[in-house]
Amino acid sequence: MLSTMMEPALTITSVMNFAKKNYPNQEIISVTADNPLHRYTYKDAFQRVGKLANALVELGAKPGDVIGTMAWNDYRHLELYYGISCSGMVCHTINPRLFDEQIEYIVEHAEDKFLFVDPLFVTKIEALQDKMPNVLGFIVLTSEDNMPETTLRNVHCYETLIADKSDEFVWPELQESAASALCYTSGTTGNPKGVVYSHRSTVLHSYASSMPDAFAFSRNDVVMPIVPMFHVNGWGIVYSAPMAGAKLVMPGPKMADGKVLTTLINQEKITMSAGVPTVWLALLDYLEQSGESIDSLKRVTVGGAACPLPIFKTFYDKYGVEAEHAWGMTEMSPLGTYNKMSSQDRELPEEEFNQKLLRQGRPIYGVDLRIVNENGDELPWDGTSSGAVQVRGAFVTAGYHKQQADFTPGGWFETGDVAFMDEESRMQITDRTKDIIKSGGEWISSIELENLAMSHPAVAEAAVIGVAHEKWTERPLLVVVRKPDSGLTAQDILKFYQGKVATWWIPTEVAFVVELAHTATGKLDKKTIRQWYQDYQWQD
Ligand code: AMP
Repeated sequence: MLSTMMEPALTITSVMNFAKKNYPNQEIISVTADNPLHRYTYKDAFQRVGKLANALVELGAKPGDVIGTMAWNDYRHLELYYGISCSGMVCHTINPRLFDEQIEYIVEHAEDKFLFVDPLFVTKIEALQDKMPNVLGFIVLTSEDNMPETTLRNVHCYETLIADKSDEFVWPELQESAASALCYTSGTTGNPKGVVYSHRSTVLHSYASSMPDAFAFSRNDVVMPIVPMFHVNGWGIVYSAPMAGAKLVMPGPKMADGKVLTTLINQEKITMSAGVPTVWLALLDYLEQSGESIDSLKRVTVGGAACPLPIFKTFYDKYGVEAEHAWGMTEMSPLGTYNKMSSQDRELPEEEFNQKLLRQGRPIYGVDLRIVNENGDELPWDGTSSGAVQVRGAFVTAGYHKQQADFTPGGWFETGDVAFMDEESRMQITDRTKDIIKSGGEWISSIELENLAMSHPAVAEAAVIGVAHEKWTERPLLVVVRKPDSGLTAQDILKFYQGKVATWWIPTEVAFVVELAHTATGKLDKKTIRQWYQDYQWQD
């Protein structure tokens, strides 16, 4: 029997129309290179999105074309997200922190027709433009007054381009399976791989990620996405916040500036924010030094990399903010799991509570998740059985752009992460498949050892890698960046591990460095760190 239900296409256009109609006066606040505090409403934003769509047509862009953006989190980037996707084009967000060769590669691979660039990246793109012969023109995201001198070919100023256009646009009826956006993953090996999101996957991810046990957005929230919009659609917040009617605050290029973030939180009464652990370290450092408070902030999502305990603790104990761990990846739109603590959890003995707090959380609706052993057999969720994490679902990619899909039977996507699930369905990531350390036939979790090292007050950053060992196959080497002026010794930190992990897990030796290697998305670049120590000689 067929249902009697209507079947409107799940499109980003429907999110735009919803927010425009129901929350026209809700605000969007941005920091940009040309304005320290730009303020307007959803109504203003979507009127300008109409102007942008007309401008794209006039430039000669057509439905199906890929349009690149290299921009920070601000209102013009939001306009591009909607203007491009709702016109039936594909919004390709480019991470400016990628190596030059990777940027050239992805712009050509994606076949970007036009590139919208923040003024702060103009010099970078000027140097690369000759390697991007297929890009027809560049648009600088600023006003005529602030337009930089530039050698970019066929260049336009964004504000001038849209100024005289009509804000009326007949939005095309799009299929929900049509491509809406494109984002390349920045692995440490090989060329970046493109993930193409659809309107449907974006809408479903926005629904699922807004649920109470995840971002829990409401129209009473003031949300500041600090996670960059060039990294997995800024975790989809530019769609899910308007869907909930929440006020948006976007910090532009100031995302790692503790002072600016604190001012925004207090001025705009921000209730929720989301970002990677390094951003929170910058904010907490600033708060510690300045003695300022952040009273309106209720919760922050921490994801993108394992979050060390002191971040959770400082947020809650000093500022009353719930820091919530989340896990995901570019291939998953990105949210996969989310860790909400309950009031009962808070009554647990501290040690037990801390263990749960550090977990990456429960799968969100729409993500089917399993862990498997080397033979592909599914493992029980018993808090100990650790294996490869596989996922599938409506907002998980089924392949890469222009690449044959190569999935396990049943359409499971291999995440490359290793984890166990506890009896409450909370996931604990223990490693990346390629980072796991095998010692004497047993696995050692490099992430757990890094987390513990990071909870030592004299440690600024830590990485643990497996180094070949004659007797044990591999042993963990702890590589540490000390905090300035700390006299931390190898003995101090090794002693710190005692009683916290099994003795045979404790790193065999410690190497001190001034800086660790990172990928373009700010994660530890373990491949490079392993290369540094490939000829390492153990002392005993
Ligand atoms: P990306 O696609 O660049 O966002 O990278 C995704 C990868 O980041 C995942 O496969 C994990 O290895 C890692 N990751 C993301 N969130 C977390 C987290 N909360 N804890 C540990 N690793 C994480």
